[in-house]
Amino acid sequence: MSRPERKTRVAVLGSTGSIGTTALKVLRRHPDRFSVNALTAFANVDRLGRQVDEFRPPFIGLVEDRPGRPAEWHGGERCLVEAASRDDVDVVLNAVVGAAGLDATLAALERGKRVALANKESLVMAGELVLATAKKGGGEIVPVDSEHSAILQCIGSRDATEIRRVVITASGGPFRTSSAEEIRTATADKALRHPTWKMGRKITIDSATLANKALEVIEAHFLFGIPYDCIEVVVHPQSVVHSFVEFADGSVLAQLGVPSMELPILYALAHPERITDPEVPRFDPVAMSPLLFEPVRSADFPMLALGIGAGRQGGAAPAVYNAANERAVALFLDGKFTFGDIAPAVEHALDALSTAPGATRSDILNADASARRLVEDRFECSRS
Ligand code: NAD
Ligand code: MG
Repeated sequence: MSRPERKTRVAVLGSTGSIGTTALKVLRRHPDRFSVNALTAFANVDRLGRQVDEFRPPFIGLVEDRPGRPAEWHGGERCLVEAASRDDVDVVLNAVVGAAGLDATLAALERGKRVALANKESLVMAGELVLATAKKGGGEIVPVDSEHSAILQCIGSRDATEIRRVVITASGGPFRTSSAEEIRTATADKALRHPTWKMGRKITIDSATLANKALEVIEAHFLFGIPYDCIEVVVHPQSVVHSFVEFADGSVLAQLGVPSMELPILYALAHPERITDPEVPRFDPVAMSPLLFEPVRSADFPMLALGIGAGRQGGAAPAVYNAANERAVALFLDGKFTFGDIAPAVEHALDALSTAPGATRSDILNADASARRLVEDRFECSRS
């Protein structure tokens, strides 16, 4: 394949987070292929400052106004959309956590850019709108999520009609073998100890409840146009097989690799090309064995079925699920919710808002705000 005549110009949104810093680690190794043209963070002035010193991007954004923020840095929530819209940016790596990433995803797709998407929440909450925006603007989404990167790599150029089933792997999280009672009463400290992946706090809790897997099922539905009936989840504690695709003839392909986000990030930046990178951790089948697969304990992890149900329902339901989950996880991390409070709070929001419309950006943002309010009210009621 011929090499592009100029470097791919990348904006990293959420550059101070787990995915953001891993992305810069990958980009640092390929200065001949990529330039970093924008960096944004929420509030971490010091870390962003060090990244700016190294990569010297023409655009820098810090959402929160913090002491020490240089005058030339852009501020406020708008800085995400500004970074994603720039003419000197080809690929927007959206590694912001949560619904805050939506407008940047839309802005980049509207302008025909590639979104290397770690921020699955934006696709989950507004799947139809995001796809319509990509179609209209000529933009494309390439997933960073390891499972979806695997599915994309397995599907290759095959037609969607040849796919019979997708099986998404889940590590099972820190409570895979815990009793139902241990799960209900788990503390944030325990829930934050993920067995195979080192990630930001929100996704680590989502991995413990299995909400992350529900978000990923919805993400796969929208990314690949696969009906919910053809998407399954299997627990695979080693996180080495990143997902399976079963084809019409019964043949199954899987993509494997050590659990490191470096590979899916590099792939999302270079797709469909593969770039030589000797530093991506190497695969050793003997060291990785044995590989185990187990069914999901659905009754003990209700967030999975709740999320898939919201996906099937469509409309604003996935946005409600996503927002209620974000608020409930924040309350759990603040010590205000127990682990067992998360699912009932999300279910309550879904029940109350089941018929909310979800076609436009404002429908989605309204549903998002209402869901957060319902979770908040539930917490306030439980206190009084
Ligand atoms: P993180 O908490 O480590 O980092 C989040 C980043 O977003 C930080 O740079 C932070 O400054 C920024 N940010 C947070 N709130 C913001 C806001 N309101 N506005 C603007 N910026 C904000 O999270 P992470 O683990 O890097 O995850 C980022 C995204 O990638 C999430 O959507 C997550 O689901 C997804 N993801 C992460 C992993 C992983 O291994 N960490 C794997 C797959 C997908
Ligand atoms: Mg994933």
